[in-house]
Amino acid sequence: MTFSIPFDNSFAGLDPVFFTKLAPEPVAAPQLRAFNEALADVLGIASGEPAEMAAVFGGSQVPDGAEPLAQLYSGHQFGTYNPQLGDGRAILLGETLGADGIRRDIQLKGSGRTPYSRQGDGRAWLGPVLREYVVSEAMHALGIPTTRALAVVETGETVWRERGLPGAVLTRVAQSHLRVGTFQIFAVRGQVDALKTLTQYAIERHYPEAQGPMGLLRAVRDRQVQLIAAWMGVGFIHGVMNTDNCAIAGETIDYGPCAFMDDFHPNRVFSSIDRMGRYAYANQPQIIVWNLAQLATALLQQLDDPEAAVEEATEIIHAMPALLQAAWVDTFRAKIGLTTKEDGDQDLIMGLQERMTQERADFTDTFRALSDGAARDQFLDPGAFDQWEPSWRARLAREKAPLDVMRAVNPVFIPRNHRIEQMIEAAVAGDFAPFERLNRVLSDPYSEQPDDMDLTRPPTENEVVAATFCG
Ligand code: AMP
Ligand code: MG
Ligand code: MG
Repeated sequence: MTFSIPFDNSFAGLDPVFFTKLAPEPVAAPQLRAFNEALADVLGIASGEPAEMAAVFGGSQVPDGAEPLAQLYSGHQFGTYNPQLGDGRAILLGETLGADGIRRDIQLKGSGRTPYSRQGDGRAWLGPVLREYVVSEAMHALGIPTTRALAVVETGETVWRERGLPGAVLTRVAQSHLRVGTFQIFAVRGQVDALKTLTQYAIERHYPEAQGPMGLLRAVRDRQVQLIAAWMGVGFIHGVMNTDNCAIAGETIDYGPCAFMDDFHPNRVFSSIDRMGRYAYANQPQIIVWNLAQLATALLQQLDDPEAAVEEATEIIHAMPALLQAAWVDTFRAKIGLTTKEDGDQDLIMGLQERMTQERADFTDTFRALSDGAARDQFLDPGAFDQWEPSWRARLAREKAPLDVMRAVNPVFIPRNHRIEQMIEAAVAGDFAPFERLNRVLSDPYSEQPDDMDLTRPPTENEVVAATFCG
């Protein structure tokens, strides 16, 4: 049986104003390095011969039913509007309708130049491709909405960054690739019909219960609020929260310079291009408000009487700080074992975080250790924890099953930067065992896995990864 994908495309049928139809560029010697069987099942794809899958997911062979295209969008990058971005190194092959009724995009990333490549080469190298595979699948296993990774193909070609590196293509799966920037471009250009079509499309695809542009805005807002709170809860720093990397479906998208924190600090930044710390850990809730304000502005451009809607849009956006704050408190309440709400909870959480910052406590290991009584060991000065502990214990006494609550939300395993770097180094040398091991362990992040305890260990001084790159 030949390998096939049950495509059921919708976006390719829209007005061509939204994209350029274009096939991926064939590659020299495609080799399949990873295939996500569990995700393939969700998509309704049965795996085939590795060579055939390598040809399809490397971009050398366009599968039956695909309608390949590059999507057009714009966006604010670090606060500055870039009037035209678009898929500069990605091709949407098409969509499938899963057994769960969810429509998903299948996209090749690193698939060659497009009309939107600007000065880029249209390619990706193996490092960032494996990084996105591991981290996006880890996010999924953590229960956080995210795009996913279906396949990795090495292209057999060299990609030039500062040096020659092995080229690769990632197959990314998303509920859609519509971004805030997809709306911005048509709003800024005054293409009102396109904006209306896009709004209708997004509503039907993602939020069928939403009423009109402001209903869509409210629905996107609610999902993004939950998403950011979830990021905060696992110490995730996205790193490039530009409006073109902000998904309408509310999934985490674009795993460029993202990272999970080791020792806690609210101002932590890893991305080498984020020199001002705009996208630092603790800024993420403010940035999402800013991004959704851009979406509001774009959506308003299609209304005959924008004045009337401005009031509603303002209310929707102005409600965000309080919603984010509430979602944040709920997230961290659970992390310290609380299911009920009391007035002092926020102070209790802040008290712990301040001490963690001062005493360089590891974010993941500290929260996990709260349920096994070893949290104080995570602090440079354990006395800092001892000062906080009595008020927490007093509060916990009014909870029914705090240990179970904490174990369900505080992961044992996260994809630590230094392990990702080590995994990439091994893969470039031809050893994919660390990649496979990371995927296996991270697929069950809330369970103790005694064989793999060194994956819970924070980096030694020599292992610390100071900066991450876009790739
Ligand atoms: P990002 O920072 O990953 O969100 O990408 C921003 C924009 O740059 C998008 O339009 C990408 O398609 C484009 N881009 C990033 N890397 C490349 C590349 N190597 N070649 C062409 N376009 C790229
Ligand atoms: Mg992007
Ligand atoms: Mg990127």
